[in-house]
Amino acid sequence: MARRTRSVRTQVVAGFATLIIAFGAVAGWSLQRQQRTVRSLRLANEVYLQLTAKLGDERGNQVQLVTVLDRLIDESNRVGSQTFISVTRRYRRGRLADAQAGVQRSLRLALDPDDRRLLEDTARSLMVIDRLWAEDERLFDALLRTLSSADLARARDERDELQTREVQGNDSLLRVIRALQTRVKALSDDAERQQNETLRLTLIATAVACLLGVLTTLRARRALDPLARLRDRAQAVARGELGTVQVPPAEDEIGELAQEFERMVGAVGARDVALREANEKRLQAERLAAVGRMAAHVTHEVRNPLSSMALNAEMLGDELDAMGEPGAESRRLVRSIQREIDRLTRLTEEYLRVARLPTPRLQREHLPGLVDETLLFVAQEMSVAGVALTKALDEVVPPVRADESQLRQALLNLLRNAREAMELAGVAAPRVVVRVTARAQDGVAGAAVCVSDSGPGLSDEAQAHLFELFFTTKARGSGLGLSLSREIAIAHGGTLHAERASADEGGGARFVLWLPAAGDDGSVEGADDAQGR
Ligand code: ADP
Repeated sequence: MARRTRSVRTQVVAGFATLIIAFGAVAGWSLQRQQRTVRSLRLANEVYLQLTAKLGDERGNQVQLVTVLDRLIDESNRVGSQTFISVTRRYRRGRLADAQAGVQRSLRLALDPDDRRLLEDTARSLMVIDRLWAEDERLFDALLRTLSSADLARARDERDELQTREVQGNDSLLRVIRALQTRVKALSDDAERQQNETLRLTLIATAVACLLGVLTTLRARRALDPLARLRDRAQAVARGELGTVQVPPAEDEIGELAQEFERMVGAVGARDVALREANEKRLQAERLAAVGRMAAHVTHEVRNPLSSMALNAEMLGDELDAMGEPGAESRRLVRSIQREIDRLTRLTEEYLRVARLPTPRLQREHLPGLVDETLLFVAQEMSVAGVALTKALDEVVPPVRADESQLRQALLNLLRNAREAMELAGVAAPRVVVRVTARAQDGVAGAAVCVSDSGPGLSDEAQAHLFELFFTTKARGSGLGLSLSREIAIAHGGTLHAERASADEGGGARFVLWLPAAGDDGSVEGADDAQGR
């Protein structure tokens, strides 16, 4: 199953989305913390501090009132003190009501339970103080009346009672002021702590966001890395380097692109090789055509004179034979002329064969029988050369479709080459093994003829150019034999290749001519183009 790949776009978008969300979360969170701190400070500033200041003023008045009450009775002139007392009495409850109204307003706004509790306590305390002051009104009136009646002893008692109650009120005021101050301090400490905490957490969150940013950038870079490799590969391919390289498994579409690119390079490389091979084949065919034209010319120009020269040389030989002993040296020379004429005649015939290689006329053939007949034909020649000819013809091979004379020609070339290679190398006990076996090639059934010798084998140079037209290592060779034999093999839908013979078959060269089996209907398997050549 194909592995699912994540697109680079998805990765980059996901990375940056995470980054934006992280930054948004950090910003939102610190904003919310800041707002909480601001709210606390506003409450402290606009409510508690103002209330504390008002109540502080009121308490200052009260302290002064207690002092005035203290010296009121013993004063010679009480007008100043009485004025102060009456002014204080007239306004203090109103100021307290103002403060109470402020507390009620703040109570409606306060969200924090601690603030609500404090404000409710404050409201309650202010109410108690107001009630106390309201009750004190009657006591103030009584004291002032007693003073005007000059009953100082009674006035003292009333004053003491009033003073005790006023001090009580003052203590209540002080408690309220302290509670408010404590809350202000707590709020300011809380604000400071929150600020420090916000700073610390903001730093951590920023560090995490930065880390995410770095990771996203690295991921994006990693995802884009193959692009540089792809560019290098494209440049290499442009230079003509068509070998493919292994690419790591695709993680995203760039990886897939690299794999597709390598597949494309592979396909282009394969097409390149196929084109080269086709080109070589075309060149070979062109050369063969040229040889054909040349051979026709040579045949026309040389063959007839050659045959009259051969006839004349034979007649000359006969005449010299008739002369007896005196003509011995001349006879030797004439034989040498005859040999050269024979060689030239063979050469022209060889050229003719190449030139006139017709489309094979394929017939169902029994390969072992055909090979056996060919061996009979060369038996004499082999025995003269001292070559031991061994055959191993497996009778149970599938029939092939072949042009008997062309196949015989190819086999003769291989046998002649084997003999000549051993002759030229001066092999002491030359031998040739010919084998016919059933053999499948590339999944196609068929039969093969193997010709092995005990010669020197193929040199590297020969191995490289063996089937090229005109390639020969022999002083008097034409370089046509193997080229022609391979053409014949191909025309039959088969192959011809060379390899090293096994030691028990002489250890020299081995040529393997393979032909596909004839189908039941007489067609040749795997040789679609055989008739078209
Ligand atoms: P020619 O026989 O005219 O040289 P071929 O095309 O038949 O042309 O052979 C080409 C060359 O292949 C030979 O010159 C020889 O070098 C090499 N060759 C062919 N057959 C053999 C063999 N059995 N052992 C060693 N070399 C061989």
